[in-house]
Amino acid sequence: MIDTHAHIHFPQFDEDREQIIRECEEKLDAVVTVGCDLEDSKKAIKVAESSKNVYASVGIHPHEAKNYSEKDYDRLVELIKSSSRVVAVGEAGLDFYRNLSPKNKQYEIFEMQVEIAKQLNLPIIIHTRNAAKEMAAFIKTKMAGCKGIVHCFSGEKELLEAALDEGLFISYSGIVTYPKNSQLRETLRYVPSSRLLVETDCPYLSPQPVRGKRNKPTYVAYTAMEIAKFLKINFTDIDRITTINAKRVFHLPLTAEEKKERLVYQVGNKLYINLTNKCPCNCKFCFRGTENFILGYNLNLTREPIAEEYMYRIKNPSIYDEVVFCGYGEPFERYETLKTVAKWLKKMGTKKVRVDTCGLGNLITGKDTTKELKGLIDTFSISINAGNKEEYLKTVRPKFGEKSWNAVIDFIKEAKKEGYEVIITAVEHPQFNKDDFIKLANELDVKYRIRPFKRFKKWEE
Ligand code: SF4
Repeated sequence: MIDTHAHIHFPQFDEDREQIIRECEEKLDAVVTVGCDLEDSKKAIKVAESSKNVYASVGIHPHEAKNYSEKDYDRLVELIKSSSRVVAVGEAGLDFYRNLSPKNKQYEIFEMQVEIAKQLNLPIIIHTRNAAKEMAAFIKTKMAGCKGIVHCFSGEKELLEAALDEGLFISYSGIVTYPKNSQLRETLRYVPSSRLLVETDCPYLSPQPVRGKRNKPTYVAYTAMEIAKFLKINFTDIDRITTINAKRVFHLPLTAEEKKERLVYQVGNKLYINLTNKCPCNCKFCFRGTENFILGYNLNLTREPIAEEYMYRIKNPSIYDEVVFCGYGEPFERYETLKTVAKWLKKMGTKKVRVDTCGLGNLITGKDTTKELKGLIDTFSISINAGNKEEYLKTVRPKFGEKSWNAVIDFIKEAKKEGYEVIITAVEHPQFNKDDFIKLANELDVKYRIRPFKRFKKWEE
């Protein structure tokens, strides 16, 4: 696990810094200690240079903006370049809560740091307080091509949307654990797994179980635990997801295991089988081709493995609650492999086998697949993503064109008739007609599921 935002070089750690660092080395993958002005950033670098697990960020906090000008550009660049332990610029941003620097100064110094981050290809760590609207506007207009992190995100929808549209990461601190912050926790549903981070902001903002005490990097686990609980996944899942994301954003090396293309991957107690990256659809909200890492796994396949490779990796499928053909493409694109593995799964006593599909299996294969798969598959989860043909063609954009709509509907009807459990699903995208979708599910007499829309780039109308 990585604490992406700490201040362990602050005086609050003067007494026991060595012990804190030792704890970080034993229990965490890394900590980023974040500077708030030039002198403070020098201290951050010094601490980072004392441990293999600590990295530094160099920047000017909006409170300190009044003491700097654009003339400090070179000094800042020089300091960043002075140590290989520096992995980010910031914290920088806008703070209209305490207004310790005039607003125009805050903008000037923030913009300067965005330019530096772009120039040095480093992420910028963004501080926002009482300025969500202004920050969203800034991100929309000034941050193209700049990577970054919205630090200590506190739940503003407008800021979240602007940040995700620009490819920024969202970091949750201990405040997400506070009982009254249910609205903040709700936002977790809308953050793509590939953009989620955790932090402490220590010595401040201790998470709920240790509230009132001085915060420290290892307490980041409390925040991760709360997020896992809310998203109904395991702690190990959140650990993996946020660690890989932090490494990606700060350009820290991934282990061979983390880089590995995933043929099969576990989330909670379900096992997912990634057969292919091919898909006959081109959904407007699909991450495929944009993000390789989903749920902390590299799902970008550079080849199409044979059935035996899947069996070898799965070994004992009966230990999972469910085995799902899903991954990062359409399983029916590899129909023969799907059938071979599904047969083996049943032989091995798998409790439940599901296929997540776009429902175009019969068009892809030219076969009557619902008949052929009888006894091998228990459930079809069909991502139709619309409640009517027009919306479907506009959003899902299937390569088979107009006839695709009828093909999906027929697939749903046939699957139901053959006795499979059938669920239709949709992402609640901006043009989604929920009423039509529910009506369709009722007409077809199947269960339905509506999934939150996770922005990852600007939505094209
Ligand atoms: S059907 Fe699934 S994999 Fe295919 S484009 Fe749509 S969301 Fe992506």
